[in-house]
Amino acid sequence: MIAAMRYSKLFIPTLRDDPADAEVISHKLLLRAGYIRRVTSGVYDYLPLALRVLRKIEAVIRQELNRSGAQELLMPMVQPCELWEKSGRMEKYGPELLRFKDRHGHDSCLGPTHEEVISDLVARELRSYKQLPMNLYQIQTKFRDEIRPRFGLMRGREFIMKDGYSFHADDACLAAEYDNMFATYCRIFERFGLNFRPVEADCGSIGGNKTHEFHVLAESGEDLIAHCSGCDYAANVEKAVSERSVQAFEAATLQSVDTPNVTSAEDVAALLSLEPSALLKTVVYRVIGGENDATVIAACVRGDDQLQEIKLIHALAADGVEMATDEEVQSIGGVSGFIGPQGLSCKLLLDQSLNEAAGLVAGANKKDAHVTGLDTARDLDAASFADLRETRAGDDCLKCGSAIELSRGIEVGQVFALGTQYTESMEVMFQNQQGKRAVATMGCYGIGVSRLMAAVVEQCNDDSGISWPPELAPFQLGLITMGKSEEVMQASETIYQQLLDAGIDVLWDERKERPGVKFKDAELIGLPMQVVIGDRGLKAGLVEMGLRSGERNEVALTDIVNLVIDQLKTSGSTN
Ligand code: ATP
Ligand code: MG
Repeated sequence: MIAAMRYSKLFIPTLRDDPADAEVISHKLLLRAGYIRRVTSGVYDYLPLALRVLRKIEAVIRQELNRSGAQELLMPMVQPCELWEKSGRMEKYGPELLRFKDRHGHDSCLGPTHEEVISDLVARELRSYKQLPMNLYQIQTKFRDEIRPRFGLMRGREFIMKDGYSFHADDACLAAEYDNMFATYCRIFERFGLNFRPVEADCGSIGGNKTHEFHVLAESGEDLIAHCSGCDYAANVEKAVSERSVQAFEAATLQSVDTPNVTSAEDVAALLSLEPSALLKTVVYRVIGGENDATVIAACVRGDDQLQEIKLIHALAADGVEMATDEEVQSIGGVSGFIGPQGLSCKLLLDQSLNEAAGLVAGANKKDAHVTGLDTARDLDAASFADLRETRAGDDCLKCGSAIELSRGIEVGQVFALGTQYTESMEVMFQNQQGKRAVATMGCYGIGVSRLMAAVVEQCNDDSGISWPPELAPFQLGLITMGKSEEVMQASETIYQQLLDAGIDVLWDERKERPGVKFKDAELIGLPMQVVIGDRGLKAGLVEMGLRSGERNEVALTDIVNLVIDQLKTSGSTN
């Protein structure tokens, strides 16, 4: 007897009310419907229902990856720090890498990702180009000591990831595998029935390489993505490029104007009856890493634009930037609240839309004063220009000219053509066709498995609870028994066994609860299909078959198993 498929035996601790500390819908519903429980910050128990969903997500991922030629392996969670020293990431990765010493004093860490471990493995085993290409993946628990774990499974510290790594003899082969993985990811997310977008993404400080993120569109998403209404252009705003026509303002002489206590771009524009785009906003940062490390710099965008920090970091070839303190602003001759680009003793970067712009208004670096008539070519020497502004809704697409739209997205996966970034430092070498030693080139491919479970719930829910896509539901079917008579229990048991025999994942709700409670629970936990069997129908040889969407039909008891099988086939749920 498979007791665990009887509701009364299954561990499903549902909650009547929304938990107070859950902000996003997936976090609320996964707690309420008895899928997860919090152990500590960013660390969760996956209860039986959640584990069933995770296993189904993993099954789809495995099937598609194996079909695409990737091979599964399993690497350890604990990694020796030596490998991170070797790749040069020990310093760079920062406090997200949880480090500790084992009893022998060896520096170890919990794996947040596995480029080092896999490169080390492949470096030791790779001899010849004949062994290439290879694509190895694992599905494994990762640990990242995130500064702000939140939104339940969406940003955990411990989470499940599928991470894959490919190795190639040359970049053309890597490019082909990148496309193969890109297409595989699209198939996986399509099978989950998700509304998703692959988007061009930022490569981090590596530069030059290619990467796409896969985003599930949802209001709760932490990322902002720009996509074109007319073509397939889509990019994370950290990377998105676009154009907008800005009004050219008339050239004028430079003048000082009094702006007592008026500091924000909008307020200055309103006071002087100007378009916000006539304003030049100046932001001061301290640079981390690169040749400007630890120096203070100033960056300017138009008053109605936002500065995109990732673009600034790239323009500076830095590792990061941090907003300057008041003292740092003063140290370069700036006056907080009235900062402008003139006369600052620091590196000055301007958004490219400000190149040769005239008639601008900017802070005067004097308390309660701005300047008007600023001309970037005439009045600012030694300024450099770069794309620093964040793409806005309504901008023009550079590819086709149509309007750009913005949506929020949850990053559920990323593919990355790394090139030789790790293989060089980790010495992943092989003998090429010409008999010479060469460095392999590498790609990496991740999917956030546990985050994906939350992302699916963000898209698939209604007022009553979760509404799983059939392929991912913890059970394909809920069999609900109404009434307690001997006959109805007997008939339910028979159908239950027949459904199990047919290989269907069925959850039999045989509890001594009121029908209302059972229906509510079935909807809350999100089973896509229900079969309801009650005394009255049974006398007429009928049962009710219903879908989570609300559609219900009375059907003959004798047909039910075949009808369920047909329905599962049409809904694409095949397990
Ligand atoms: P993010 O920008 O959200 O921090 P990332 O770009 O650092 O993610 P990757 O290194 O690309 O993450 O990891 C691969 C996948 O693992 C991500 O696409 C995401 O789906 C998932 N993931 C990353 N961090 C977390 C986390 N803290 N909790 C849950 N899933 C995560
Ligand atoms: Mg990523």
